[in-house]
Amino acid sequence: MVNLEIPADHPRRISLEIRDKIIAGHSENIVATAGLLAHGRGEAFDYLIGEKTTEIAENAIKVAVASLLLAQHPVISVNGNVCSLVPKELVELSKITNAPLEINLFYYRREREDAILQALKSAGASKVLGTHNRPSATIPELSSNRRKVDSEGIGAADVVVVPLEDGDRTEALKAIGKKVITIDLNPMSRTAVFADVTVVDNVVRAMPLMIRYASEMKSKPTDELRKIVENYNNDENLSKSIHLIRARLEELSRDVSVLRKKKKVGRNKS
Ligand code: ATP
Ligand code: MG
Repeated sequence: MVNLEIPADHPRRISLEIRDKIIAGHSENIVATAGLLAHGRGEAFDYLIGEKTTEIAENAIKVAVASLLLAQHPVISVNGNVCSLVPKELVELSKITNAPLEINLFYYRREREDAILQALKSAGASKVLGTHNRPSATIPELSSNRRKVDSEGIGAADVVVVPLEDGDRTEALKAIGKKVITIDLNPMSRTAVFADVTVVDNVVRAMPLMIRYASEMKSKPTDELRKIVENYNNDENLSKSIHLIRARLEELSRDVSVLRKKKKVGRNKS
């Protein structure tokens, strides 16, 4: 962690602590410089949804978990941001759902791969796919090293979890027939709209909930899990998320003093 003293009652404490993790990940080579900017975009949308897991997101999480539990060959894709924010949760979700972790980087550097592998191993991962010494396959429609996937991982998967993914990659995964689950704070990103299940939430809040639901739902009969997936419509989920942002903004535009009241605590301490 970066040595940042954040008072316990600071109104932006959680957000600053998350930011601290991303900055530390960057100095450890885990997070790409562009990952810092991606995080900032996420933060802005988190502000808009109210920095908490909405009911809409929680419902999408149940569908995501049901899809993972029903999959023949699920895989969880890991990039630098996710690895720095939720390494332990990635390992736990992977174990509960039998979905291997695969390192899949937009900005590939061998040092980053090594740093991420090390972080996942320290978080308890026994096997990690997608490293340079693994068999690889290519996703058509994507250029250069962004095409590379593990042939026994994403290459063979039916369901892929791609938290904080770029839109090009998501489209390419859809084009080769994968079911795509994402966690993305921006309900309007290309990933959000191309994915089959979009959890509009911060990965920091969504992952622990996915773990909880996976443990609970693991014993549910297949038919029940199928119903959860069949009754779901991702476009509706995104419309509701956008509507929630609009409603929040409308409410705040009528009375901004609500924001001032919330921000009062700890005001003089930083
Ligand atoms: P797209 O390529 O899908 O159109 P983009 O180009 O706007 O999206 P990218 O950098 O490609 O953005 O993808 C990163 C995505 O991850 C963004 O939509 C951003 O809002 C989201 N994001 C960033 N941090 C988090 C986080 N902590 N939790 C969830 N989502 C996040
Ligand atoms: Mg993008």
